[in-house]
Amino acid sequence: MKKRTLAESEERVVTLREELSKHSYAYYVLDKPSITDQEYDQLYHELVEIETDYPELITSESPTQRVGGTILPGFEKVTHDVPMLSLGNAFNQTDLLNFDQRVKRLTDRPIQYICELKIDGLAVSLRYKNGIFQQGATRGDGVVGEDITQNLRTVKAIPLQLAEPYTFEVRGECYMPKASFAKLNEERDEKGLEIFANPRNAAAGSLRQLNSKVTASRNLNVYLYSAANFDELEVDSQEELLKKLAAIGLRTNPERRLFDSIEEVWSFIEEMTAKRQQLPYEIDGIVIKVNDFATQEEIGYTVKAPRWAIAYKFPAEIKETVVRTIEWTVGRTGVVTPTAIMDPVFVAGSTVQRASLHNIDLLQEKDVRIGDTVLIHKAGDIIPEILGVVLENRSSDSEPYPIPETCPACGSQLAHLEEEVALRCLNPKCPAQIKEGLSHFVSRNAMNISGLGEKVVSQMFEKRLVKDVAGLYTLTMEDLLQLEKIKEKSATNILNAIDASRDNSLERLLFGLGIRHVGAKAARMLAQEFETIERLMTATKEEIVAIEGFGEIIADSVVAYFSLPEVADLLEEFRQSGVNLTYKGSKKITIAPQESIWQGKTVVLTGKLNHYTRQEATEMIENLGGNVTSSVSKSTDWIVAGLDAGSKLKKAESLGIPIWTEAEMLEHLERSER
Ligand code: NAD
Repeated sequence: MKKRTLAESEERVVTLREELSKHSYAYYVLDKPSITDQEYDQLYHELVEIETDYPELITSESPTQRVGGTILPGFEKVTHDVPMLSLGNAFNQTDLLNFDQRVKRLTDRPIQYICELKIDGLAVSLRYKNGIFQQGATRGDGVVGEDITQNLRTVKAIPLQLAEPYTFEVRGECYMPKASFAKLNEERDEKGLEIFANPRNAAAGSLRQLNSKVTASRNLNVYLYSAANFDELEVDSQEELLKKLAAIGLRTNPERRLFDSIEEVWSFIEEMTAKRQQLPYEIDGIVIKVNDFATQEEIGYTVKAPRWAIAYKFPAEIKETVVRTIEWTVGRTGVVTPTAIMDPVFVAGSTVQRASLHNIDLLQEKDVRIGDTVLIHKAGDIIPEILGVVLENRSSDSEPYPIPETCPACGSQLAHLEEEVALRCLNPKCPAQIKEGLSHFVSRNAMNISGLGEKVVSQMFEKRLVKDVAGLYTLTMEDLLQLEKIKEKSATNILNAIDASRDNSLERLLFGLGIRHVGAKAARMLAQEFETIERLMTATKEEIVAIEGFGEIIADSVVAYFSLPEVADLLEEFRQSGVNLTYKGSKKITIAPQESIWQGKTVVLTGKLNHYTRQEATEMIENLGGNVTSSVSKSTDWIVAGLDAGSKLKKAESLGIPIWTEAEMLEHLERSER
């Protein structure tokens, strides 16, 4: 490109700064980016180029001179003892070679690089005093961050006590695993709420919450990768630091490697580019750091980033395809969701044909039409997402997609409620809602009836074997044998599972009923408080609001639900089928002053524990309502890794399951017992 004149550049610089600051606001403050990171990086890069050509145009306010974030109102400010910097970026091999040459111009010492994954989350700093967690903060603008101590205390991988009584500050990335991100967005869709664009924004939104209960429910995790004021640790290089952090109970990423040349670094980047989709968390690049601390100091810093490190950013994988139709599905609570069905296209490791458009507001905002060519990528590396429409390819007779007026399943009028982004079918008898409701009723955290997957439930419903959830309890062997692929043995298993569920404690039924705003935890608290369904049915709004943590919205929803005559009929059917309608939870838990964090959780203990024997720890956890199992699987809620933990720890890491140190386990055992 021809070099711009000074006058042209002056004008462009103003536009670029305005654009970048608008997008930074959406990204850092609203956690809702308005453009992709790659588009942002391109604008930023253009600004850097102009400022390199005309240094006289640099101002201290330029985004190239400052770290991006802003402080949200509502949080206390924390001034970092040592600024939390950003990183310079590399987008290709040439950028990397230039970095290597720059480094070698600034020092004569031999260079060894350490490569780490660039975890796509939110940078946090944790202060420890004599080994005890004191304060946690966001990076903010690099100099001043937000005090998010209470929220960080809910992140289980952050130890409240270290194995050694060190006083220092450790820094790293708090992130949301891909699976939790997918689940969170699914739940938000179902509730008619806006979804998060990617795991980074979801993590940032979850951490910068004024209510730490929300943070606690978001399954965040952390990898630590640097430190400040850490003389006590007596380490001389990044590799030694990471080893030390791990040894004292801080979580570090195992996918790191040392190299003597930039060519080897490039091979590692290629290797990780191929591997990144299999990781349970999102990475947006590789960070390359000079390993030796003395050499780092010699090389030094710019105002914004160390000169001894660089972040290689993966190119975005964006493909084009054509939208053929838009499919509408009705969820359990009546939310109607549009999905674009497209020509199959290979993106980021798999073939994609469907992409959720989430809700009618988003569909209209993106203005996706049948026949449109669209740009597609995978949000958080996993969820196909339409980024936008290629308008040049749109035919002149194309029409905006009409807003559906009636429910695709039952034909009743749809409502677009004011506070919601979604369309909703309000008919409680809508067959699609009932079918989804059945799947929810039998799910693990509700009545836990195994053998009734989505396909079986669909068939039972279509063959009119059940008309609602109470109908499950009158199913016979004959009924089940009408279903495809169900033979006597599996039918017997299903009947046994249904039978066993009759004895469940009341909270499972309450959760399974799918009362709006009543999740598993609220269901348990209602059951504990009122003990029988009769008592709950006559509970007043005031009585419900009096339960700690309950607000008017839940109370209104519960009272309205139990005032419906259909609900009374349904409960009568349960009673007649011998389904238990009382709370059976153990006394110990009911009288516990705080709700036990272990309740209903499946936990694995591995490695050598110092404080209790494994048997003792198991008994304590079980007394608090937890379940200790011996093997790690997707249904494990967290593992406790003692000394020399091996394959179970590896497996938990690969599945993205939270890992607790023994100190964290003790903290939570003691807290629950108090
Ligand atoms: P950055 O994300 O490019 O890199 C620096 C950060 O990487 C560090 O602060 C740290 O949080 C993180 N990191 C992760 N793993 C690390 C490791 N192992 N070692 C060290 N650091 C590690 O820089 P930034 O200043 O945080 O953010 C700028 C980037 O944010 C832009 O390049 C752009 O991609 C994105 N952004 C996007 C928009 C948008 O509108 N889409 C707006 C603003 C910023």
